[in-house]
Amino acid sequence: MKLTILVPCFNEQCVITEFHSRLMAIIERLNTNTEVLYINDGSQDQTGAIIDQFAQDPRVTSLHLSRNFGKEAAMRAGINAVQGGAVIIMDCDLQDPPELIPLMVQEWRKGHEIVNMQRRSRRCDSWAKRMAAQLYYVTMDQLIDDFEVPRQVSDFRLIGPNALAAIRAMDDNAGVLKLLVSWLGYPSTEVNYDRKPRQAGRTKWSPLSLLDLCVDSILAFSTRPLRMYSYLSVTSFLLGSLWIAVDATLSQLTQLHLLAQSLLLLCLGTAVVGEYVGRVLTVVNPRPNALHKRHQP
Ligand code: UDP
Ligand code: MG
Repeated sequence: MKLTILVPCFNEQCVITEFHSRLMAIIERLNTNTEVLYINDGSQDQTGAIIDQFAQDPRVTSLHLSRNFGKEAAMRAGINAVQGGAVIIMDCDLQDPPELIPLMVQEWRKGHEIVNMQRRSRRCDSWAKRMAAQLYYVTMDQLIDDFEVPRQVSDFRLIGPNALAAIRAMDDNAGVLKLLVSWLGYPSTEVNYDRKPRQAGRTKWSPLSLLDLCVDSILAFSTRPLRMYSYLSVTSFLLGSLWIAVDATLSQLTQLHLLAQSLLLLCLGTAVVGEYVGRVLTVVNPRPNALHKRHQP
């Protein structure tokens, strides 16, 4: 079975050479047909030229995106470019140690379709990033209850052939890959590891990018905020009507205003936004309602 190591990279000239030599040393010892696919996510430094040099090795391929699309899109481009088999996604700043690849393959061979690498601690992250991550998981827990979102798991994972085929077939461009992988419901396991500090270069992470991830995750996997808005609209309509009924001091004009406003909120909030938009989102969602245990391409 083929294994492809997918490596999204954006302006990583300071660290990518060391990453590559450590990665290739591991691959030499791995008893699996392994390839490496670097996805250059519109780097403006020498990253593109460096990975083209790596690609002289027949086991290595470089793929260049036309501009910087962000890590999610880069991972997706990599997944679409792979010809079957399993993939391991990892960062090239050496925060995800290549030395853990044999352990991931071992877990895969035990029958786990997904091997999630779970951080033992977040000590090497800033206080802001730790808090933001915590907030992200609490929000996801509140809004998603169809499936479990594993804690302290980022994009460092092995995705088996079955899961990979299912993801490719869905063409879920709006989805957040790590949630999509959990949504599949395939046999998965978590392996603890110590995430290392970035070896060189600088992070592209910002609090805003986490906010973006949070909004994207909610929009792609939950219509609960819309349903909550529906309930809120019904409640405010009922309260408005009750007020009109019990408060005799309200003038007729105020009563009319109150009634019109609560009716408007009821129609717009409940019917149009809350329910119909929710239904549209569900219908245009590229994910099927349910997935077979073995994916049929
Ligand atoms: N990355 C990417 N496109 C981007 C931002 C980042 O391909 O727009 C890559 C980056 O080169 C690295 C990985 O995604 O291999 C993780 O990025 P980073 O280390 O900046 O994030 P952090 O680990 O700090 O969350
Ligand atoms: Mg990093």
